[in-house]
Amino acid sequence: MLSCKELVENSSDYLDKRLSLNKGLEVRLHLTLCVNCRRFIKQMKVSQAVYRKMQQEQGDELDGLAQKLAQAHRSNQ
Ligand SMILES: [Zn+2]
Repeated sequence: MLSCKELVENSSDYLDKRLSLNKGLEVRLHLTLCVNCRRFIKQMKVSQAVYRKMQQEQGDELDGLAQKLAQAHRSNQ
């Protein structure tokens, strides 16, 4: 059975679904038994979602900027 420390070490791989089948099962087993780690994983998920959304929005902004630049370039000609 995993210790809490091991769970934390594996948590980002777990959330990215990069763990082997066995390791993933161990993590899930630990999570069913350990409320602290459940809470921890939940917070990790939330912060990952926020981080991804921020990256997405930055990407959209850059796309918009590139379009504006292209339009400005065209109207200069
Ligand atoms: Zn734990």
